[in-house]
Amino acid sequence: MRYQLRDEQGATHSVAYLMLAAAPVVFLTGIVLPDTHPTGWVVAILATCVFMAGAGSAARWRPGWIPRVWWLIAPFAAIAIIAGMNFASHDASAGAQLFYLWPVLYAANFLSNRIVAVVLVLISAGHAAVAFSTLTPTKALSDWVSVTVALSLTAFVVGSLRNRHDRLRLVLESQALADPLTGVANRRSFDGELARAVTWARRSGESLALITVDIDYFKKINDTYGHGVGDQAIQVVANALRVVARREDDLVARIGGDEFVVLLRTDRVSAAKASEEVRTVLAAVEGLPCGPPGLSIGVAMLPDHATTADELRAASDAALYEAKQGGRGRTAMARPPRPARTDEISAAG
Ligand code: GH3
Ligand code: MG
Repeated sequence: MRYQLRDEQGATHSVAYLMLAAAPVVFLTGIVLPDTHPTGWVVAILATCVFMAGAGSAARWRPGWIPRVWWLIAPFAAIAIIAGMNFASHDASAGAQLFYLWPVLYAANFLSNRIVAVVLVLISAGHAAVAFSTLTPTKALSDWVSVTVALSLTAFVVGSLRNRHDRLRLVLESQALADPLTGVANRRSFDGELARAVTWARRSGESLALITVDIDYFKKINDTYGHGVGDQAIQVVANALRVVARREDDLVARIGGDEFVVLLRTDRVSAAKASEEVRTVLAAVEGLPCGPPGLSIGVAMLPDHATTADELRAASDAALYEAKQGGRGRTAMARPPRPARTDEISAAG
């Protein structure tokens, strides 16, 4: 069965603490406090306590032992236990109904709105069965309406807070991974994506291109036209790089002041073409007081020039350095790794 659990760790802890707290409470209220102790009742209460203590311990310390579907059915099991115990003990008091808060809070926090609605309907039905079998019809009706409305409002408030929390988390996550000036990925995001892309390339046997781009004489742009124009030049370059990173899994990142990288899941020929296309796109930019900035570009390929993420970065950096040394405004392809010399091989052996 496919279902969505919002926060598995939160859900497991929530179930664990409920079970671990409920076991002694049920023991106290079911066995210690009552005056009479019918054998069947004592056995049922003891079995419930042992089950809750065991399930709570497993949820807390060995959540991997528990099938994932349990985190979906946990509120329904809780409703069945609460309604069953209230019914068996003819307890329609407000205190007994308070236990229904747990499945409501759990579902509103961790499960979908549809499941929250089902939970509320079941609680309402369970409480109706207890209230109408133990109280006068008028009292039962008013009690049932109060509990149903109070729990529905609780679910609504928790659901609203949860949605707000989710929205804020999304904003924070995207801010933590984006460069504020250009909106492209930042270094932190790039590090993660590069590691993922390298794993993909090695597993699939496909090639991966890392293009490192640096604006030429950028300091001069800043010094001559001011920091604002420098910022505009950085944004223009980022936009030109976005044009060539067309596919969903391509990535553009700003990794330093005027330095960018483009990660393309493509071959050497397409990577070289992409780096030239950036120059063409940039040359057509109008309205920048300093004119389109010049770029030096280094291209490295996995597996041609590297086998790990670090090696790929180093090879792409070295190619960029070569482009700078070669006079700037050009693209350099990384060199194949130097074959180990005979004496190195024997030294290693
Ligand atoms: P080269 O041709 O060798 O690349 O030289 P360069 O002048 O482009 O490179 P250098 O590394 O000397 O200068 C980069 C400058 O970028 C230095 C720093 O003040 C500036 N810088 C860094 N971040 C920003 C930014 O966000 N906005 C602006 N306008 N300038 C920045
Ligand atoms: Mg530069």
